[in-house]
Amino acid sequence: MVQRVAIISVHGCPLARLGEKDTGGMNVYVLELARELARQGITVDVYTRVHDPQEPRVVFLQERAQVIHLPAGPYDEGKTGIYGYLSEFLDRILEFQSSHGLSYEIVHTHYWLSGLVGLDLAARWDVPHITTFHTLAEVKRRARPGEYEPDLRAAMEFRICHEADLIIAFSQHEKESLERFYHTEPSKIRVVPCGVDSGRFRPMDRFAAKKALGLEGKKVALFVGRIEPLKGLDLLLQAVAQVEDKEDLAVLIVGGNPRKDQELERLHATASSLGLAQTTRFTGTVAHQELPTYYNAAEVLVLPSYYESFGLVALEAMACGVPVIAARVGGLQYVVREGETGYLLAWHCPDIYAERLEVLLNNEDLRQSMGKAARSLAADQTWGAMAQELANAYDSLLFPAQPALCKV
Ligand code: UDP
Repeated sequence: MVQRVAIISVHGCPLARLGEKDTGGMNVYVLELARELARQGITVDVYTRVHDPQEPRVVFLQERAQVIHLPAGPYDEGKTGIYGYLSEFLDRILEFQSSHGLSYEIVHTHYWLSGLVGLDLAARWDVPHITTFHTLAEVKRRARPGEYEPDLRAAMEFRICHEADLIIAFSQHEKESLERFYHTEPSKIRVVPCGVDSGRFRPMDRFAAKKALGLEGKKVALFVGRIEPLKGLDLLLQAVAQVEDKEDLAVLIVGGNPRKDQELERLHATASSLGLAQTTRFTGTVAHQELPTYYNAAEVLVLPSYYESFGLVALEAMACGVPVIAARVGGLQYVVREGETGYLLAWHCPDIYAERLEVLLNNEDLRQSMGKAARSLAADQTWGAMAQELANAYDSLLFPAQPALCKV
């Protein structure tokens, strides 16, 4: 069995505050992966860039897992600028690794920036390279008119697809995209969906959750995530504006940094112009461990995204027993079960979202049965099971099955 893995996540520190512009699902994924691999006896070092000068260089996560922050470029450099500092980051990893006498059997990289670092590391250390893209430029470009992704990113993703040893996709949709847009060899792709911590995200007293958030007597439609146009929040607001009876309705939008995000400011203005200033509450980011209260206070989670490679928040809401109305895009179409745990909507039209919102908000029995089905489906999708599949994938590269010997 594999013993020691280097996880490279240049811009996605597993310890970063979630829900800001560039911090979300990938950070959660890397943290859970590191922890679960460590629980299974594998030693994991997560290499990431220094993003907060106050944070210690090395942070102990738990036995066999640590996060190593390495300086490369200005600490507040945005995702797009990091490309220019990748070779510096690579040098820092090599220095750290050799000065601490570390060796690895596998490099697992996250996002194309880290994928590039991984190609170099794998060649120098002579170990297999597994990559998880999290999102793909060629899919994002097609997802929403006006979505911009640089040619450089798409070209580098193409290179990684062809040079990495194995690619982890979150869904069949991502696998097909890798084959179609990047001509990736199908046998190099393994589909391993994400998990959820169903001990943390679980059904709780809904009345108490509403009370804790000052939402007593309200029916709550919730959104959780990074605040960016791809998440379709305009659509959510337009849909809510069309809901007939809004007297008791509250829309809770969790995520974003009110001091930094212009997009949040724009959405505030949109909500006001639609007459929703009193109905909508923008909370800014909420710590991950506090989110169960938010999910449990909600009648429904709405995720009208133009693209989600997976859609962790949908699974978190489901684990809390909350039905989800989501766009039928990317990985989301495999997370939510149409008519069983919520609704999957093929069109980005406010009318359809408004109609589904009304159906769910006005039908407690339906919410309960969908919530129950959602919880039981989500409870089976653990991070532990996901990490086990990844450990198997590592082993398959390290110890490829020998062809059976023919008896003569
Ligand atoms: N999240 C959080 N606090 C926030 C906003 C988001 O903890 O204020 C977490 C959320 O619980 C989820 C992740 O960030 O685990 C977002 O992942 P998702 O796959 O939904 O979206 P992505 O960021 O990958 O687009």
